[in-house]
Amino acid sequence: MPEGDTIHHAARRIRAVLQDRVPDQILTPHPRHGYDRWPERLAGRAVRSVDVHGKHLFVRFEGELTLHSHLRMTGAWGVHREGERWKRAARRAWLVMRAGEWRIVEFDGPVLELTSDSRARRDRRLAALGPDVIGERFDRNGFLRRLRAADAARPLGDALLDQRIVAGIGNVWKAESCFAAAIDPWRALGRVSDEEALAVVGFARERMRRSADGDGFSERPRAVYDRAGRPCPRCGTPIGRRAQGDANRLTYWCPGCQS
Ligand SMILES: [Zn+2]
Repeated sequence: MPEGDTIHHAARRIRAVLQDRVPDQILTPHPRHGYDRWPERLAGRAVRSVDVHGKHLFVRFEGELTLHSHLRMTGAWGVHREGERWKRAARRAWLVMRAGEWRIVEFDGPVLELTSDSRARRDRRLAALGPDVIGERFDRNGFLRRLRAADAARPLGDALLDQRIVAGIGNVWKAESCFAAAIDPWRALGRVSDEEALAVVGFARERMRRSADGDGFSERPRAVYDRAGRPCPRCGTPIGRRAQGDANRLTYWCPGCQS
């Protein structure tokens, strides 16, 4: 599942290929973008930067044009050398950017748009995002302010998935960070101290940054996530699993040592 570490890792690889470079070719094979004329609109324009906020990735071109992508649960970025096998079938490619021997491919959408810089700045969803958990610097006060503005009865685990409070944490990192800090993801925000909230997010930040430096996926801890019924590595109690929040995302935790 793509979370902030996966997206930062993808951005790093895309940046290494495209930064300050004009792609040789841009293709939009998916029918949804068949009439959008992105190849024409982006032709001859160099990539100014590739950046990330939470789980959103932005490829910014000269001429105030920005490709914005969000992978949700299904999408993926691939950076492949010419002739190398792609990570998904070619028919699932929505966007292909060719630069020298490299093919940068976005698979399976589902959010992929070409927008202007000014429209991106006015996008209310993007403007509402909380601080990026793995950004260069993390705005701790901004995070706490947003957390305290939320309903005090809301469970911590649910709040951690709210991208307006902190951006980049998904279901795996939510469960693992609460476990690492020994805090029950079902505990109401009103009973979570600032220090505890910062401990949870601090763990997520440190380990997600490390994961992004690796391959953005395989260095994730797996103490509780997807381990329902198996013994807790800290105390041996069987790991619990229950749907949480409006989106009914499964949360995993140890009822023995997380309180
Ligand atoms: Zn335990």
